[in-house]
Amino acid sequence: MKSIRGVYKVGRGPSSSHTIGPSRAASYLKQKYSEAEGFRVTLQGSLALTGKGHGTENAIVEELKPYPCTVSYDLETEKLHHPNTMIVEAYNENGIVTDTAVVESVGGGDVVIDGESIDTWDDVYPHSTWADISSYCEKEHIGLYDYVFRFEDENIEDFLRFIWDTMKDEITDGVHTDGILPGGLNVIRKAKRLWNSGNLDIGNPADFNRTVCAFAYAASEQNASNGIVVTAPTCGSCGVVPAVLFASQIAENYQDSDIVRALAVAGIIGNLIKTNASVSGAECGCQAEIGSACSMAAAAVAELEHLSLAQIESAAEIAMEHHLGLTCDPVAGLVQIPCIERNAVAATEALTAESLAKYLTSTQKISFDAVVKTMYETGLDLSHMYKETSMGGLAKLYIN
Ligand code: SF4
Repeated sequence: MKSIRGVYKVGRGPSSSHTIGPSRAASYLKQKYSEAEGFRVTLQGSLALTGKGHGTENAIVEELKPYPCTVSYDLETEKLHHPNTMIVEAYNENGIVTDTAVVESVGGGDVVIDGESIDTWDDVYPHSTWADISSYCEKEHIGLYDYVFRFEDENIEDFLRFIWDTMKDEITDGVHTDGILPGGLNVIRKAKRLWNSGNLDIGNPADFNRTVCAFAYAASEQNASNGIVVTAPTCGSCGVVPAVLFASQIAENYQDSDIVRALAVAGIIGNLIKTNASVSGAECGCQAEIGSACSMAAAAVAELEHLSLAQIESAAEIAMEHHLGLTCDPVAGLVQIPCIERNAVAATEALTAESLAKYLTSTQKISFDAVVKTMYETGLDLSHMYKETSMGGLAKLYIN
C-alpha cells in the first residue's frame, strides 16, 4: 500500500477529481509536450456533466497558460473506462495534432494518464487490508500510529504537521468570512453565523456540536469558493476530519503532536479505502467521499482517546456502514448543496460512531474490510445518475 501522503493533498477547491486532478494532469502534460503551440481538451463523463459547476475548465486553462487552450464538453460518449475522463491533444503551429493523452481523474486528486499513474507516492506498507495491519500491530505490540512511523519516511511527521496547519488555516479563514458563495445558487456562507451565534461554551455538549458543525461549514465553504484546502480524502468531503479534530483540540487541550498521531491513523483508514475501493464520487457516489471522511474522522478521534485497535476499527466501520448507498447529486454541479451541510452532519456522525465503538466493540459483527468491500460493490451498482453527474436526486428536483 502507498504512502498516506496520497490521501492528504493540498490544492484549490472545489473538487479533487474535477479541479485538483485535471490541473495536475495539465501541469504534467504541459511539461511533457513543451514543444506544442497549444492544447485542445475534451471533457467526458462526469467531468463533462459537472465540469462547469466544479470549475474544471478554468482549472485546466489556468494551468496550461501561457499556451492557448480550448475546452469542449463531450456529452455523448457513455462507455468510458473511468467516469472522469479527459482527452488532451497537443497541436503544432499548423494546428495539426502531434500528441494525444487520455487522462483519468480517479479520485482524491490522483491521476492516470494513458494507463499510468503520474503519482510518485511509494509503496511503503507491506499490508493492504485492516486484517493484516491489525494482526501485524498486535504481533509487534505497536499502535497504528507507530505502524505509520515505522514504514513512512523520516519526514512524515513534518508533512502531517504541515497538513494540520493547512487544515487549521482553512477553518480559521472560513469562520471569519461571510457573503455568498460563487456559482449562481446564491448560497449564503453559514460558518461565521454558526460560530458567532451566542456565547459558545465548547465544554457544553450542545455548543461542542455547534462548533464541530461551524468548523465543517468553514472548511467546506472555503472549498466551495476555490480556496486552498486539504483533501481528506477529497475536496468535497474536506470539512469532516479537520472539524472534528479542531473542535476536539480546543475542547480537550490536545497538543498538535496528538493531532498528528490522529491524522496518521485517519490516513491509514483513508488509504485502505482508496486501495480496496474508491474515494471518487464519480465512481461510487457520495458514500465514497463523505462516508470515507466520516470513517477517517471516527478513527482519528478514537486514536485521540487512546482506544484499542479493535475499537478504532469499530469506529471506522460504523461510520462507513451508515453512509452505504449515499448518492452524489450536487445541485447545479456545484459542490455546495448538499455537500457543505453533509460535511457538518458527517462530522457529528463520526463522533457518534466513535462513542458507540468505545462501549460496544465487543459486540461488533461487521469488519472494516467487509464494509469497505460493500461500499465499493454498492458504488459500482449505483446508477450513473447518482455518481457526480447532477442528473438525479436533489440536482434533478431542485427548484430555485
Ligand atoms: S454530493 Fe458528496 S460526492 Fe457529490 S460532490 Fe457533494 S460531497 Fe462530493
